[in-house]
Amino acid sequence: MPTKSTMRAAFLTGHGGNDVVRVGERPAPRPAPGEALMRVRAATVNRVDLYMRNSGAGITHSLPMIMGLDAVGIIEAAPAGDVRLKPGDRVVLHPGIGCGRCEFCLRGDHVLCTAIKYFGEQSDGSFAEFVAAPAQNLFPAPPDFSDQEAAALGVAHLTAWRMLFTKALLKPWESVLILGVGGGVSLAALQLASAIGARTIVTSRSRDKLDCAIQCGADATIETGAADLPRAVMEATAGRGVDVVVENIGGEIWSAALKCLVRGGRIVTCGATTGDQPGADLRRLFIRQLQVIGSTLGNFAEFADLLRFCSANRIRPIIDSTFQLGEVHQALTRLESGQQFGKVALRISEG
Ligand SMILES: [Zn+2]
Repeated sequence: MPTKSTMRAAFLTGHGGNDVVRVGERPAPRPAPGEALMRVRAATVNRVDLYMRNSGAGITHSLPMIMGLDAVGIIEAAPAGDVRLKPGDRVVLHPGIGCGRCEFCLRGDHVLCTAIKYFGEQSDGSFAEFVAAPAQNLFPAPPDFSDQEAAALGVAHLTAWRMLFTKALLKPWESVLILGVGGGVSLAALQLASAIGARTIVTSRSRDKLDCAIQCGADATIETGAADLPRAVMEATAGRGVDVVVENIGGEIWSAALKCLVRGGRIVTCGATTGDQPGADLRRLFIRQLQVIGSTLGNFAEFADLLRFCSANRIRPIIDSTFQLGEVHQALTRLESGQQFGKVALRISEG
C-alpha cells in the first residue's frame, strides 16, 4: 500500500491549454472491495487526454481530475482472496469500467455500457503514482515488452483491434486503407493488419512518416496534399478500391475516403478530429452498398486476444518519445503537434 496518503499526479484544474494541467500531490486511491492497487510505471498520452484538457464537453466529470487512460504497472495490493493477481505482478490496464448489469455488460461488450466510466474521463486516471482498478481490468503485461510499449496497448492498439477485426471483419486477403499513419490508432492498425497479411495502404502529409510506415510493413503509401486521394487509391489497387478504410480524421477526409472503397466495402471510424458533420453521400452508400461502422475502444475479450496476438507475433507499439511525469506538458504538446510517429509515453515511476 502507498506509505503516504498522497501521491504525485498530473491533473486537470480546469479546461483550456496546458496551464490547466498541474503536476502535484493528490490523495492516493484506496482500493474498494474487488479492486487492486497498482503502482503505475508508465502510461501514454491519447487524443482523449487533449479533449479532456480542452473542454471535456459531454463527458460527466468533476475537477480536479487526474488525467490518463492507459497504464502499465506493478500490483502493490491484490483484492483479498484473488487467485489471479498477486503483489509484484506486472499488469496492463483496460481503462473502461462497465456497470456489470446492463444488457451490454451481460453480453460481454461492456464498451457499449451506457454507464461506462473511463479512467481519465469520468474518474481519476493513470498519470499518477497509484491507480486502484477492478481486478478484471488488469491483464498480465507481455513480459518482453517495455513499460511504454505495454502501456500503449490499452487504448490505441485495442481501438485498432476492434475496428479491424470485430467491426470491419478484415480478412488476410483483403486490402485496407489507413488514413493519417503517424497517430497511435493508425499505426496500430497498420501493424495489426500487416501481421495478418492484409494489403495495407497508408496516407500521411509527411514523406518521412510514410518512409517509417514502410518499415512497419506498409505495402503502399500515399502522400496526401500532393495527391488526389481516391485517384491514388485506385491506382494502387488496379482501379478496384480497398475493402476497408480505417478512419479517425473525420470532416476533412470523409467524402474522399468513401470514394476509395470497393463496392460493398466498409469504412470504420473511431474519431473526427477535423469535424464530425461531413456530407453523408447517401447515394454512394446505397448504390455501392457501402457500410459505415463506428467503433470505440474494445472489450475485455478483445483485449485478451490482442495481448496474445501481440505477444505471439512480437507486435510492439512504436514509441515516438518518452517524457517524465513532470514533463506532461511537453508530452501533450508533442501529441498536439501531430509531428509524432507512434505513441508519446510518460514514465511515471521505476518502482
Ligand atoms: Zn453496463
